[in-house]
Amino acid sequence: MDNGGALKSGANIAVIGGGPAGSFFAILALKIAREMGKDINILIFDCKHFSDHGPRGCNMCAGVIQDSLIRKLERIGITLPSDIRMADIEGYAFHLKGFSACIKKDPSTSIYSVFRGGGPYRWAMIPRRKVSFDQYLLDHAIKEGVKFRYERVSGIEFPKMDGNKVSVICKGKNNSKVYEADFVVGAFGVNTVLIKKLPFGYRPPKMWISCQAEIEMERDHLREKCSNMIHIFFTRSPKIKYLAITPKGDNATITAIGKNVSLNDLQNEIINSEISGYLPSNWEFTCHCHPKLPVTPAQQPYTDRCVMIGDASYSRYMKNGIESAYYTALFAAETILKNGISKEILKRDYDKRCRKMFYYDNLAGKILFLLHEIISSNDVSSTVYLDRVINEQSQMEPEKQEVSRLLWHLYTGDMPYQYILKRFLNPLLHAQFTYETIKKIFR
Ligand SMILES: Cc1cc2nc3c(=O)[nH]c(=O)nc-3n(C[C@H](O)[C@H](O)[C@H](O)COP(=O)(O)OP(=O)(O)OC[C@H]3O[C@@H](n4cnc5c(N)ncnc54)[C@H](O)[C@@H]3O)c2cc1C
Repeated sequence: MDNGGALKSGANIAVIGGGPAGSFFAILALKIAREMGKDINILIFDCKHFSDHGPRGCNMCAGVIQDSLIRKLERIGITLPSDIRMADIEGYAFHLKGFSACIKKDPSTSIYSVFRGGGPYRWAMIPRRKVSFDQYLLDHAIKEGVKFRYERVSGIEFPKMDGNKVSVICKGKNNSKVYEADFVVGAFGVNTVLIKKLPFGYRPPKMWISCQAEIEMERDHLREKCSNMIHIFFTRSPKIKYLAITPKGDNATITAIGKNVSLNDLQNEIINSEISGYLPSNWEFTCHCHPKLPVTPAQQPYTDRCVMIGDASYSRYMKNGIESAYYTALFAAETILKNGISKEILKRDYDKRCRKMFYYDNLAGKILFLLHEIISSNDVSSTVYLDRVINEQSQMEPEKQEVSRLLWHLYTGDMPYQYILKRFLNPLLHAQFTYETIKKIFR
Protein backbone atom coordinates (compact mmCIF):
# COMPACT_ATOMS: atom_id res chain seq x y z
CA MET A 1 0.00 0.00 0.00
CA ASP A 2 1.59 3.35 -1.03
CA ASN A 3 0.92 6.65 0.72
CA GLY A 4 -1.38 7.97 -2.00
CA GLY A 5 -4.64 5.98 -1.90
CA ALA A 6 -7.23 5.42 0.82
CA LEU A 7 -6.84 2.54 3.30
CA LYS A 8 -7.93 -0.79 1.83
CA SER A 9 -9.41 -3.95 3.32
CA GLY A 10 -6.99 -5.67 5.66
CA ALA A 11 -5.37 -2.38 6.76
CA ASN A 12 -4.16 -2.14 10.36
CA ILE A 13 -4.81 1.12 12.21
CA ALA A 14 -3.16 1.87 15.56
CA VAL A 15 -4.95 4.43 17.74
CA ILE A 16 -2.90 5.92 20.60
CA GLY A 17 -5.36 6.96 23.31
CA GLY A 18 -8.67 5.40 24.32
CA GLY A 19 -10.34 8.62 25.49
CA PRO A 20 -13.36 10.02 23.61
CA ALA A 21 -11.36 10.93 20.47
CA GLY A 22 -9.83 7.42 20.18
CA SER A 23 -13.10 5.57 20.83
CA PHE A 24 -15.13 7.86 18.53
CA PHE A 25 -12.57 7.38 15.77
CA ALA A 26 -12.65 3.59 16.13
CA ILE A 27 -16.46 3.41 16.19
CA LEU A 28 -16.88 5.79 13.23
CA ALA A 29 -14.06 4.28 11.15
CA LEU A 30 -15.53 0.76 11.55
CA LYS A 31 -18.97 2.06 10.59
CA ILE A 32 -17.68 3.86 7.47
CA ALA A 33 -15.50 0.90 6.48
CA ARG A 34 -18.47 -1.49 6.77
CA GLU A 35 -20.63 0.80 4.65
CA MET A 36 -17.87 0.78 2.01
CA GLY A 37 -17.48 -3.01 2.18
CA LYS A 38 -13.97 -2.75 3.69
CA ASP A 39 -12.68 -4.95 6.48
CA ILE A 40 -10.18 -3.04 8.66
CA ASN A 41 -8.41 -3.82 11.94
CA ILE A 42 -8.19 -1.24 14.71
CA LEU A 43 -6.01 -1.51 17.82
CA ILE A 44 -6.37 1.10 20.59
CA PHE A 45 -3.57 1.69 23.12
CA ASP A 46 -4.17 3.37 26.46
CA CYS A 47 -2.19 3.49 29.67
CA LYS A 48 -5.15 4.23 31.97
CA HIS A 49 -7.72 1.93 33.59
CA PHE A 50 -10.82 4.12 33.53
CA SER A 51 -12.20 2.22 36.52
CA ASP A 52 -9.34 3.54 38.71
CA HIS A 53 -10.25 6.30 41.15
CA GLY A 54 -8.79 9.81 41.06
CA PRO A 55 -6.80 11.37 38.19
CA ARG A 56 -4.98 8.02 37.54
CA GLY A 57 -8.10 6.62 35.90
CA CYS A 58 -9.70 9.81 34.72
CA ASN A 59 -9.39 12.10 31.71
CA MET A 60 -10.06 15.05 34.01
CA CYS A 61 -12.93 17.24 32.92
CA ALA A 62 -16.15 18.75 34.27
CA GLY A 63 -18.01 15.94 32.49
CA VAL A 64 -20.89 17.92 31.03
CA ILE A 65 -22.45 16.23 28.00
CA GLN A 66 -24.60 18.60 26.01
CA ASP A 67 -27.76 17.73 24.08
CA SER A 68 -26.12 18.04 20.64
CA LEU A 69 -23.57 15.34 21.53
CA ILE A 70 -26.20 13.12 23.16
CA ARG A 71 -28.16 13.22 19.84
CA LYS A 72 -25.02 12.50 17.78
CA LEU A 73 -24.21 9.49 19.96
CA GLU A 74 -27.76 8.18 19.68
CA ARG A 75 -27.47 8.35 15.88
CA ILE A 76 -24.48 5.97 16.01
CA GLY A 77 -26.21 3.60 18.44
CA ILE A 78 -24.77 4.88 21.75
CA THR A 79 -27.34 5.69 24.44
CA LEU A 80 -25.84 6.71 27.78
CA PRO A 81 -27.41 4.48 30.48
CA SER A 82 -28.62 5.89 33.78
CA ASP A 83 -25.67 4.48 35.75
CA ILE A 84 -23.22 6.57 33.66
CA ARG A 85 -25.31 9.73 34.10
CA MET A 86 -24.46 11.24 37.49
CA ALA A 87 -27.13 13.95 37.13
CA ASP A 88 -29.72 15.10 34.63
CA ILE A 89 -28.92 18.80 34.53
CA GLU A 90 -31.89 21.18 34.57
CA GLY A 91 -30.19 24.39 33.49
CA TYR A 92 -27.57 26.99 34.30
CA ALA A 93 -27.40 29.55 37.09
CA PHE A 94 -25.12 32.56 36.56
CA HIS A 95 -23.70 34.43 39.54
CA LEU A 96 -22.10 37.82 39.46
CA LYS A 97 -21.25 39.99 42.44
CA GLY A 98 -24.05 38.64 44.61
CA PHE A 99 -26.69 38.66 41.83
CA SER A 100 -27.94 35.40 40.33
CA ALA A 101 -29.94 34.51 37.23
CA CYS A 102 -31.23 31.02 36.40
CA ILE A 103 -31.94 29.78 32.91
CA LYS A 104 -33.77 26.48 32.65
CA LYS A 105 -33.15 24.19 29.70
CA ASP A 106 -35.78 23.47 27.07
CA PRO A 107 -37.65 20.40 28.48
CA SER A 108 -37.30 18.57 25.15
CA THR A 109 -33.48 18.56 25.47
CA SER A 110 -31.09 16.76 27.82
CA ILE A 111 -27.83 17.66 29.52
CA TYR A 112 -25.99 15.05 31.59
CA SER A 113 -23.08 15.17 33.97
CA VAL A 114 -20.71 12.18 34.01
CA PHE A 115 -17.45 11.02 35.54
CA ARG A 116 -14.70 10.30 33.03
CA GLY A 117 -12.97 7.75 35.30
CA GLY A 118 -13.91 5.64 38.32
CA GLY A 119 -14.86 8.69 40.44
CA PRO A 120 -13.04 10.63 43.20
CA TYR A 121 -10.22 9.08 45.28
CA ARG A 122 -12.51 8.73 48.29
CA TRP A 123 -14.66 6.29 46.32
CA ALA A 124 -11.86 3.71 46.33
CA MET A 125 -12.92 2.91 49.92
CA ILE A 126 -16.58 2.37 49.08
CA PRO A 127 -17.56 -0.07 46.34
CA ARG A 128 -19.77 1.74 43.81
CA ARG A 129 -21.43 1.04 40.51
CA LYS A 130 -19.41 1.50 37.29
CA VAL A 131 -19.49 5.14 36.34
CA SER A 132 -16.87 5.91 33.69
CA PHE A 133 -18.07 7.62 30.51
CA ASP A 134 -14.72 6.93 28.78
CA GLN A 135 -14.87 3.22 29.71
CA TYR A 136 -18.41 3.02 28.37
CA LEU A 137 -17.34 4.44 24.99
CA LEU A 138 -14.27 2.19 24.87
CA ASP A 139 -16.38 -0.89 25.71
CA HIS A 140 -18.74 0.06 22.90
CA ALA A 141 -15.80 0.23 20.46
CA ILE A 142 -14.54 -3.17 21.69
CA LYS A 143 -18.03 -4.66 21.21
CA GLU A 144 -17.93 -3.40 17.62
CA GLY A 145 -14.73 -5.37 17.01
CA VAL A 146 -11.90 -3.04 18.05
CA LYS A 147 -8.91 -4.56 19.87
CA PHE A 148 -7.48 -2.89 23.00
CA ARG A 149 -4.04 -2.97 24.62
CA TYR A 150 -3.34 -1.56 28.09
CA GLU A 151 0.05 -0.08 27.29
CA ARG A 152 1.86 3.27 27.32
CA VAL A 153 3.17 4.24 23.89
CA SER A 154 6.62 5.78 24.13
CA GLY A 155 7.20 6.76 20.51
CA ILE A 156 6.24 6.50 16.85
CA GLU A 157 8.75 5.71 14.10
CA PHE A 158 7.95 6.62 10.54
CA PRO A 159 9.13 4.60 7.53
CA LYS A 160 12.12 5.86 5.55
CA MET A 161 10.54 4.60 2.34
CA ASP A 162 7.17 5.42 0.82
CA GLY A 163 4.69 2.58 1.33
CA ASN A 164 6.28 1.03 4.44
CA LYS A 165 4.55 0.67 7.81
CA VAL A 166 4.66 2.98 10.83
CA SER A 167 6.02 1.54 14.08
CA VAL A 168 4.33 2.19 17.42
CA ILE A 169 6.81 1.63 20.23
CA CYS A 170 6.00 0.67 23.81
CA LYS A 171 9.13 0.72 25.94
CA GLY A 172 9.01 -1.67 28.89
CA LYS A 173 11.47 -1.95 31.83
CA ASN A 174 13.45 -4.74 30.19
CA ASN A 175 12.34 -4.79 26.59
CA SER A 176 10.42 -2.79 23.99
CA LYS A 177 7.42 -3.94 22.01
CA VAL A 178 6.92 -2.72 18.47
CA TYR A 179 3.58 -2.77 16.66
CA GLU A 180 3.46 -2.13 12.94
CA ALA A 181 0.51 -0.30 11.43
CA ASP A 182 -0.55 1.01 8.04
CA PHE A 183 -1.82 4.15 9.73
CA VAL A 184 -1.49 5.75 13.18
CA VAL A 185 -4.06 7.99 14.87
CA GLY A 186 -2.79 10.20 17.70
CA ALA A 187 -5.74 10.52 20.12
CA PHE A 188 -3.55 11.07 23.16
CA GLY A 189 -4.93 14.46 24.26
CA VAL A 190 -2.68 17.12 25.74
CA ASN A 191 -1.93 15.69 29.20
CA THR A 192 0.94 13.55 27.92
CA VAL A 193 4.64 13.93 27.13
CA LEU A 194 4.08 12.17 23.81
CA ILE A 195 2.95 15.47 22.25
CA LYS A 196 6.54 16.72 22.58
CA LYS A 197 8.12 13.68 20.98
CA LEU A 198 6.75 13.55 17.47
CA PRO A 199 9.41 13.51 14.78
CA PHE A 200 7.76 15.78 12.20
CA GLY A 201 6.45 19.36 12.03
CA TYR A 202 3.68 18.83 14.62
CA ARG A 203 3.41 21.51 17.30
CA PRO A 204 0.89 20.94 20.13
CA PRO A 205 -1.78 23.52 20.99
CA LYS A 206 -0.98 26.28 23.49
CA MET A 207 -2.53 25.34 26.83
CA TRP A 208 -3.88 26.69 30.09
CA ILE A 209 -3.59 24.75 33.31
CA SER A 210 -6.94 24.62 35.05
CA CYS A 211 -7.84 23.26 38.46
CA GLN A 212 -10.64 20.85 39.34
CA ALA A 213 -11.74 19.41 42.65
CA GLU A 214 -14.46 17.12 43.95
CA ILE A 215 -16.55 17.85 47.01
CA GLU A 216 -18.86 15.29 48.62
CA MET A 217 -22.33 16.63 49.34
CA GLU A 218 -25.49 15.12 50.75
CA ARG A 219 -27.91 14.61 47.87
CA ASP A 220 -30.54 16.69 49.72
CA HIS A 221 -28.10 19.54 50.30
CA LEU A 222 -27.05 19.45 46.64
CA ARG A 223 -30.67 19.47 45.51
CA GLU A 224 -31.62 22.28 47.88
CA LYS A 225 -28.63 24.54 47.15
CA CYS A 226 -27.84 23.72 43.54
CA SER A 227 -31.10 22.11 42.29
CA ASN A 228 -29.29 20.12 39.59
CA MET A 229 -28.24 23.32 37.84
CA ILE A 230 -24.68 24.03 36.71
CA HIS A 231 -23.61 27.14 38.63
CA ILE A 232 -21.26 29.53 36.87
CA PHE A 233 -19.52 32.18 38.99
CA PHE A 234 -17.76 35.14 37.42
CA THR A 235 -15.07 35.65 40.03
CA ARG A 236 -13.06 38.66 41.22
CA SER A 237 -9.85 36.65 41.16
CA PRO A 238 -7.50 37.78 38.37
CA LYS A 239 -6.34 34.15 38.06
CA ILE A 240 -9.75 32.56 37.52
CA LYS A 241 -11.82 33.49 34.45
CA TYR A 242 -14.80 31.62 35.74
CA LEU A 243 -15.65 28.86 38.16
CA ALA A 244 -18.33 26.19 37.75
CA ILE A 245 -20.10 23.82 40.14
CA THR A 246 -21.38 20.73 38.33
CA PRO A 247 -23.72 18.48 40.38
CA LYS A 248 -22.99 14.75 40.18
CA GLY A 249 -25.30 12.75 42.45
CA ASP A 250 -23.78 13.05 45.91
CA ASN A 251 -20.74 14.93 44.59
CA ALA A 252 -20.06 18.25 42.99
CA THR A 253 -17.19 18.94 40.61
CA ILE A 254 -15.69 22.42 41.02
CA THR A 255 -13.88 23.63 37.90
CA ALA A 256 -11.75 26.77 37.84
CA ILE A 257 -10.69 28.00 34.40
CA GLY A 258 -7.70 30.30 34.01
CA LYS A 259 -4.17 30.42 32.59
CA ASN A 260 -2.57 28.71 35.55
CA VAL A 261 -4.85 28.01 38.49
CA SER A 262 -3.40 26.42 41.62
CA LEU A 263 -5.37 24.50 44.25
CA ASN A 264 -4.70 27.42 46.62
CA ASP A 265 -6.27 29.88 44.15
CA LEU A 266 -9.36 27.69 43.97
CA GLN A 267 -9.55 27.23 47.74
CA ASN A 268 -9.15 30.99 48.40
CA GLU A 269 -11.81 31.87 45.85
CA ILE A 270 -14.31 29.50 47.48
CA ILE A 271 -13.56 30.74 51.00
CA ASN A 272 -13.71 34.45 50.11
CA SER A 273 -16.78 34.50 47.91
CA GLU A 274 -20.47 33.64 47.71
CA ILE A 275 -19.48 30.18 46.36
CA SER A 276 -19.03 28.74 49.88
CA GLY A 277 -22.77 29.42 50.48
CA TYR A 278 -23.55 26.69 47.93
CA LEU A 279 -21.35 24.10 49.65
CA PRO A 280 -21.72 22.26 52.98
CA SER A 281 -20.19 24.17 55.91
CA ASN A 282 -17.56 21.44 56.45
CA TRP A 283 -16.63 21.07 52.78
CA GLU A 284 -13.31 19.54 51.82
CA PHE A 285 -11.75 18.40 48.55
CA THR A 286 -11.91 14.62 48.12
CA CYS A 287 -9.92 14.65 44.88
CA HIS A 288 -8.27 17.27 42.67
CA CYS A 289 -6.39 17.59 39.39
CA HIS A 290 -4.77 20.13 37.05
CA PRO A 291 -5.86 19.22 33.51
CA LYS A 292 -4.50 21.16 30.55
CA LEU A 293 -6.93 23.04 28.37
CA PRO A 294 -5.95 23.67 24.74
CA VAL A 295 -6.60 27.30 23.74
CA THR A 296 -5.18 27.30 20.19
CA PRO A 297 -5.14 24.66 17.45
CA ALA A 298 -2.09 22.40 16.96
CA GLN A 299 0.16 23.07 13.99
CA GLN A 300 0.51 20.42 11.32
CA PRO A 301 -1.43 17.66 13.12
CA TYR A 302 -0.74 15.22 10.27
CA THR A 303 1.99 13.64 8.20
CA ASP A 304 2.16 10.65 5.84
CA ARG A 305 0.26 7.77 7.51
CA CYS A 306 -0.51 9.64 10.72
CA VAL A 307 -3.07 12.12 11.99
CA MET A 308 -3.76 13.74 15.35
CA ILE A 309 -7.37 14.08 16.53
CA GLY A 310 -9.25 15.38 19.60
CA ASP A 311 -7.52 17.81 21.97
CA ALA A 312 -4.16 17.02 20.36
CA SER A 313 -5.37 18.71 17.15
CA TYR A 314 -8.39 21.04 17.18
CA SER A 315 -11.05 21.74 19.77
CA ARG A 316 -13.65 24.37 20.42
CA TYR A 317 -12.37 27.28 22.54
CA MET A 318 -13.39 26.67 26.20
CA LYS A 319 -16.43 24.49 25.40
CA ASN A 320 -17.59 21.12 24.08
CA GLY A 321 -14.18 19.40 23.99
CA ILE A 322 -15.79 15.96 23.77
CA GLU A 323 -18.00 17.00 20.86
CA SER A 324 -14.95 18.52 19.13
CA ALA A 325 -13.24 15.13 19.57
CA TYR A 326 -16.23 13.56 17.80
CA TYR A 327 -15.90 15.91 14.80
CA THR A 328 -12.12 15.52 14.40
CA ALA A 329 -12.52 11.72 14.69
CA LEU A 330 -15.22 11.75 12.00
CA PHE A 331 -13.20 13.96 9.62
CA ALA A 332 -10.10 11.76 10.07
CA ALA A 333 -12.02 8.49 9.55
CA GLU A 334 -13.69 9.78 6.38
CA THR A 335 -10.42 11.10 4.94
CA ILE A 336 -8.30 7.98 5.40
CA LEU A 337 -11.01 5.53 4.30
CA LYS A 338 -12.37 7.53 1.37
CA ASN A 339 -9.57 9.79 0.12
CA GLY A 340 -6.06 8.87 1.17
CA ILE A 341 -3.37 8.71 3.82
CA SER A 342 -0.67 10.99 2.44
CA LYS A 343 0.37 14.26 4.07
CA GLU A 344 -1.05 16.22 1.12
CA ILE A 345 -4.46 14.54 1.27
CA LEU A 346 -4.67 14.85 5.06
CA LYS A 347 -3.84 18.55 4.76
CA ARG A 348 -6.48 19.06 2.07
CA ASP A 349 -9.31 16.88 3.39
CA TYR A 350 -8.74 16.67 7.15
CA ASP A 351 -6.87 19.74 8.29
CA LYS A 352 -8.77 22.21 6.08
CA ARG A 353 -12.09 20.80 7.25
CA CYS A 354 -11.07 21.17 10.90
CA ARG A 355 -9.79 24.72 10.30
CA LYS A 356 -13.07 25.61 8.60
CA MET A 357 -15.03 24.35 11.57
CA PHE A 358 -12.87 25.66 14.43
CA TYR A 359 -10.44 28.39 13.39
CA TYR A 360 -12.61 31.47 12.77
CA ASP A 361 -15.30 30.29 15.15
CA ASN A 362 -12.73 30.10 17.96
CA LEU A 363 -11.59 33.65 17.15
CA ALA A 364 -15.21 34.77 17.57
CA GLY A 365 -15.30 32.77 20.84
CA LYS A 366 -12.21 34.57 22.14
CA ILE A 367 -13.79 37.96 21.36
CA LEU A 368 -17.02 36.92 23.10
CA PHE A 369 -15.29 35.71 26.26
CA LEU A 370 -13.24 38.93 26.32
CA LEU A 371 -16.37 41.12 25.98
CA HIS A 372 -18.07 39.05 28.62
CA GLU A 373 -15.11 39.55 30.96
CA ILE A 374 -15.07 43.32 30.37
CA ILE A 375 -18.80 43.59 31.12
CA SER A 376 -18.59 41.34 34.20
CA SER A 377 -15.61 43.20 35.67
CA ASN A 378 -17.47 46.54 35.80
CA ASP A 379 -19.99 47.02 38.64
CA VAL A 380 -22.53 49.02 36.59
CA SER A 381 -22.43 47.09 33.32
CA SER A 382 -22.50 43.72 35.10
CA THR A 383 -25.58 44.71 37.12
CA VAL A 384 -27.38 45.97 34.00
CA TYR A 385 -26.46 42.76 32.19
CA LEU A 386 -27.67 40.40 34.92
CA ASP A 387 -30.76 42.53 35.72
CA ARG A 388 -31.75 42.14 32.10
CA VAL A 389 -31.42 38.33 32.31
CA ILE A 390 -33.42 38.25 35.56
CA ASN A 391 -36.18 40.41 34.02
CA GLU A 392 -36.28 38.33 30.86
CA GLN A 393 -36.64 35.14 32.91
CA SER A 394 -39.45 36.49 35.08
CA GLN A 395 -41.39 38.62 32.57
CA MET A 396 -40.74 37.71 28.95
CA GLU A 397 -41.84 34.97 26.58
CA PRO A 398 -38.99 32.52 25.81
CA GLU A 399 -38.62 33.79 22.21
CA LYS A 400 -38.01 37.36 23.47
CA GLN A 401 -35.33 36.42 26.01
CA GLU A 402 -32.48 37.65 23.83
CA VAL A 403 -29.70 38.16 26.42
CA SER A 404 -30.57 34.97 28.33
CA ARG A 405 -30.35 33.04 25.10
CA LEU A 406 -26.94 34.54 24.27
CA LEU A 407 -25.62 33.63 27.72
CA TRP A 408 -27.10 30.14 27.35
CA HIS A 409 -25.49 29.62 23.92
CA LEU A 410 -22.13 30.88 25.23
CA TYR A 411 -22.03 28.47 28.18
CA THR A 412 -23.68 25.41 26.67
CA GLY A 413 -21.86 25.81 23.36
CA ASP A 414 -25.00 24.79 21.45
CA MET A 415 -24.49 27.46 18.76
CA PRO A 416 -21.40 28.55 16.79
CA TYR A 417 -19.57 31.47 18.39
CA GLN A 418 -19.87 33.44 15.13
CA TYR A 419 -23.66 33.26 15.42
CA ILE A 420 -23.58 34.38 19.08
CA LEU A 421 -21.19 37.26 18.32
CA LYS A 422 -23.38 38.51 15.47
CA ARG A 423 -26.44 38.48 17.76
CA PHE A 424 -24.47 40.08 20.57
CA LEU A 425 -23.35 42.97 18.34
CA ASN A 426 -26.97 43.84 17.53
CA PRO A 427 -27.13 47.71 17.73
CA LEU A 428 -30.62 47.65 19.28
CA LEU A 429 -29.37 45.52 22.18
CA HIS A 430 -26.50 47.95 22.78
CA ALA A 431 -28.80 50.97 22.61
CA GLN A 432 -30.93 49.32 25.33
CA PHE A 433 -27.84 48.53 27.42
CA THR A 434 -26.53 52.09 27.09
CA TYR A 435 -29.93 53.51 28.14
CA GLU A 436 -30.11 51.16 31.16
CA THR A 437 -26.51 51.96 32.13
CA ILE A 438 -27.09 55.74 32.00
CA LYS A 439 -30.27 55.29 34.07
CA LYS A 440 -28.34 53.25 36.65
CA ILE A 441 -25.50 55.82 36.87
CA PHE A 442 -27.86 58.76 37.48
CA ARG A 443 -30.23 56.93 39.78
C1 LIG B 1 -11.07 21.71 33.30
C2 LIG B 1 -11.67 21.11 32.06
C3 LIG B 1 -13.04 20.89 32.01
C4 LIG B 1 -13.62 20.35 30.86
N1 LIG B 1 -14.96 20.11 30.85
C5 LIG B 1 -15.53 19.59 29.75
C6 LIG B 1 -16.93 19.33 29.72
O1 LIG B 1 -17.64 19.53 30.69
N2 LIG B 1 -17.47 18.83 28.57
C7 LIG B 1 -16.69 18.59 27.45
O2 LIG B 1 -17.24 18.20 26.42
N3 LIG B 1 -15.36 18.80 27.48
C8 LIG B 1 -14.76 19.28 28.58
N4 LIG B 1 -13.41 19.47 28.62
C9 LIG B 1 -12.61 19.08 27.45
C10 LIG B 1 -12.42 17.54 27.38
O3 LIG B 1 -11.89 17.07 28.58
C11 LIG B 1 -11.44 17.18 26.25
O4 LIG B 1 -11.75 17.95 25.11
C12 LIG B 1 -11.53 15.69 25.88
O5 LIG B 1 -11.18 14.90 26.97
C13 LIG B 1 -10.60 15.41 24.71
O6 LIG B 1 -10.62 14.05 24.41
P1 LIG B 1 -9.33 13.31 23.82
O7 LIG B 1 -9.73 11.91 23.60
O8 LIG B 1 -8.79 14.11 22.69
O9 LIG B 1 -8.22 13.40 24.96
P2 LIG B 1 -8.22 12.76 26.43
O10 LIG B 1 -9.57 12.73 26.98
O11 LIG B 1 -7.16 13.48 27.17
O12 LIG B 1 -7.78 11.24 26.17
C14 LIG B 1 -6.46 10.92 25.81
C15 LIG B 1 -6.19 9.46 26.15
O13 LIG B 1 -4.89 9.11 25.65
C16 LIG B 1 -4.24 8.33 26.60
N5 LIG B 1 -2.78 8.48 26.41
C17 LIG B 1 -2.06 9.61 26.49
N6 LIG B 1 -0.77 9.37 26.24
C18 LIG B 1 -0.68 8.04 26.00
C19 LIG B 1 0.41 7.18 25.69
N7 LIG B 1 1.64 7.65 25.59
N8 LIG B 1 0.16 5.87 25.50
C20 LIG B 1 -1.11 5.37 25.60
N9 LIG B 1 -2.18 6.16 25.91
C21 LIG B 1 -1.96 7.46 26.10
C22 LIG B 1 -4.69 8.89 27.94
O14 LIG B 1 -4.53 7.93 28.98
C23 LIG B 1 -6.14 9.21 27.65
O15 LIG B 1 -7.01 8.15 27.97
C24 LIG B 1 -12.80 20.02 29.74
C25 LIG B 1 -11.42 20.24 29.81
C26 LIG B 1 -10.85 20.77 30.96
C27 LIG B 1 -9.37 21.00 31.00
